[in-house]
Amino acid sequence: MPTTLPETRLQLFTSVLTAVRTGIIVFDSEQRVVLWNHWIEQHSHLPAPSVLGKPFADVFPDMVDGRTHIAIREALRNNFASLISQTLNKAPFPLFAAPADAAGGARLQQAIHVMPLEVPGLPRHCMVQITDVSMAVSRERKLREMAVELESQTLVDGLTGIANRRHFDLHLEDEFRRAKRTRMPVSLIMIDVDYFKDYNDNYGHQRGDQCLVRIASALGAVLNRSRDLLARYGGEEFAVILPDTDNNGALQLAEAMRAEVESLELEHGHSGVAPQVTVSLGVSTMVPELIAKSGSLIHAADRALYQAKRSGRNGVAVYNDEQAINV
Ligand code: GH3
Ligand code: MG
Ligand code: MG
Repeated sequence: MPTTLPETRLQLFTSVLTAVRTGIIVFDSEQRVVLWNHWIEQHSHLPAPSVLGKPFADVFPDMVDGRTHIAIREALRNNFASLISQTLNKAPFPLFAAPADAAGGARLQQAIHVMPLEVPGLPRHCMVQITDVSMAVSRERKLREMAVELESQTLVDGLTGIANRRHFDLHLEDEFRRAKRTRMPVSLIMIDVDYFKDYNDNYGHQRGDQCLVRIASALGAVLNRSRDLLARYGGEEFAVILPDTDNNGALQLAEAMRAEVESLELEHGHSGVAPQVTVSLGVSTMVPELIAKSGSLIHAADRALYQAKRSGRNGVAVYNDEQAINV
């Protein structure tokens, strides 16, 4: 170490404490403030002389028994260091970016380290180091928003690789508009896996996911027209849009899908209907009037699916014009 006089070194340390862009507060064994650096002065708008010698509870009455206070107690009493997670405790200290913010209450986002400090000849002290992480936090928030935005624009389901719900909604609107023009029928098949909760409960969620992937590919194998669209409608539900397809055609496809899934012979020892994984399907068909809404086609297919479930599952049901017909 270079030979500097003790006073010079002390001056140097003081200058460093003043220059650092981090807040440093030191508490003595009685939780009294003994050091309050320039950064803290700037961001708390409290000059050091107004807080030095005061106990934690007087300076930060709102933080008494909070996570930071507990961490300070632990540091002093048990020599524990802690990092107070920014995600759980966004801004415990009343610190602000600019003087104007103090009134408005927008606090700096903080990362807080609490460290025990051994001081020769004195009981243990505690140092609290506060870093402004507002920039990092806002960058993280932006990234998260972008990820959500991107996710909302994708058309593919992450698990099965088939169309997702968004793609389904867009495609159904397109085909519905087209059918109004052409006066051709649009059919919809809603598909739900039977006793799938029991499958997950007994074989685990991961095998449940694998099962959904196999089902998606079996259902897709039955379709061969380019404008037909198989989508993951939600959880363990699938939906198929069949443009220019009448009720009879849709029924045949639905039955072929049911049989295709059954023939996968995916063991399901806890199904109430078969020794393997099966699906129930609801079919509806519409030649949409100008004012018709695609929601009513979905609603009808949903009712048919409900009927297929009620009739024992592993089957197909139709719902058109206020009546359900089992097949
Ligand atoms: P039902 O024959 O009446 O349809 O019975 P069910 O158990 O299939 O119906 P329910 O709606 O009660 O349960 C659906 C279950 O599907 C709930 C959940 O455990 C499971 N599930 C939903 N989405 C997923 C997923 O993405 N992956 C996995 N592994 N399971 C899912
Ligand atoms: Mg379901
Ligand atoms: Mg189900």
